[in-house]
Amino acid sequence: TCSSLTSLHPSEIMTTCHVVLFPFVAYGHMIPMADMAVLFASRGLRTTIVTTSSTAHRLSKTIQKTINYTHQIALHTIEFKAGEGSAPPVIHNPDQIINNEHLSRLSEAIATLQEPFEQFIEKSQPNCIVSDMFFPWTVETAAKFNIPRIVFNGTGFFSLCVSDAIQLYPPTVSSDSEPFVIPNLPHAIKFTRKQLPQIDEELKVFWKVIIQAAEAEAKSYGVIVNSFYELEPEYVRHYREVMKRKAWHVGPVSLFSKNMEDKFERGKKSAIDEQECLKWLELKPAGSVIYVSFGTIVKIPTSQVYEIAMALEACDVNFIWVIRNAQETLPEGFEARMNAKGLIIKGWAPQALILDHESVGGFLTHCGWNSVLEGVSGGVAMVAWPVMAEQFNNAKLVTDVLQIGVSIGDVEWSAASTCDGVKQETIERAVATVMGMGMKEGDAMRMRARELKEKSKTTVEVGGTSYSDLTTFIEDINAFRDMN
Ligand code: UDP
Repeated sequence: TCSSLTSLHPSEIMTTCHVVLFPFVAYGHMIPMADMAVLFASRGLRTTIVTTSSTAHRLSKTIQKTINYTHQIALHTIEFKAGEGSAPPVIHNPDQIINNEHLSRLSEAIATLQEPFEQFIEKSQPNCIVSDMFFPWTVETAAKFNIPRIVFNGTGFFSLCVSDAIQLYPPTVSSDSEPFVIPNLPHAIKFTRKQLPQIDEELKVFWKVIIQAAEAEAKSYGVIVNSFYELEPEYVRHYREVMKRKAWHVGPVSLFSKNMEDKFERGKKSAIDEQECLKWLELKPAGSVIYVSFGTIVKIPTSQVYEIAMALEACDVNFIWVIRNAQETLPEGFEARMNAKGLIIKGWAPQALILDHESVGGFLTHCGWNSVLEGVSGGVAMVAWPVMAEQFNNAKLVTDVLQIGVSIGDVEWSAASTCDGVKQETIERAVATVMGMGMKEGDAMRMRARELKEKSKTTVEVGGTSYSDLTTFIEDINAFRDMN
């Protein structure tokens, strides 16, 4: 299955491996894994993405990018097996909002992908599987076919280290709101128990998968991380040296899209014409726009939409606000009043394009890892508003370690994936701070954010740390193949 390459960097002229990538069916996992596939293909690896037929269309634009490569990315689709009872609706229409019950049923349904996935592996005989953490059983698949399993967690080193330390040293505090310092980490990171995931009845099945994922990670060959060394050096070392994981940092994978057009239709067709969006941004002064988005899963009740709207209206800043759901009703007359300074995108936004534009200086974010990394690559200061998943970890990285943002709304982890209870004044103050409106604190954050942007660009260039670690990854999987 291996062929020789001649059109690559001399260090890469070696017989190439076939890598299978298997992303979880959420945008926050599929988008970075699709970018990673392009990255692999650009370095001459034969790359196949395996996914379900209802999500495959999200990848078509990305795959087109590799049309002139030695090996274009291949796509293989598999199906969930119809089981007892009704399938979770999210399987047929994965774009609909996932609630906890759906998430638990999806976690069960995922097990039915094992058989068709293994049939594909048997037939195609790849040299390596890069599996999403949410498919813990791929550790058995890899063992069966004697190939390495590499895990993709969809988050950064800091978050992986924090979650591991909390598992190892459960907090001994007398109340849920008493702060404690997580032991044995490079920085004194404070949490309260309220900020940690709350596992209710509906989330139990999903949580079981998380535990299985951690066990499977420990048995895997290594972990591939969408991050870069200069962003979180202490945590890259902690993960490798203290947690003893073999890990490669290859990000930010979104930066591989160098042409403007490559940032169009990332994951989904935008609800706004990209050129229109760019034109709007061109007319605004450098650093004057705050981009507001809560990613693809977090829900926002109307009362909270109201507080955000009032804050944006009161602040002397331009803004782009992504409203994802029809339920997110804007206050009466708001859109007309904001005509000059606000662009409201109803549906999918070209996020990477927006964050990379020099008119954007701030980002109000739920702290999904991709958003944080895209914010870092765009050099923007952040209002960190974590809600669920590992977003509280990412927010602490932004505020306490990198010091490129302030946090709000971070009192309690939400089992209902809902952000709520933050008043206009709090939002207004945080936005004013990160937009550097006369506040020294904000100016320093913006300066640090711009420095990180420069580092994020060089890390993916030839000779940069992420570029070199990808070379090591390719060498490692080649060596595994040659020894087996
Ligand atoms: N995204 C986008 N447009 C949108 C919403 C999201 O391009 O309107 C992309 C965003 O750039 C990121 C991903 O979808 O790459 C969301 O991942 P993240 O980890 O930030 O959050 P999640 O949705 O998983 O909570």
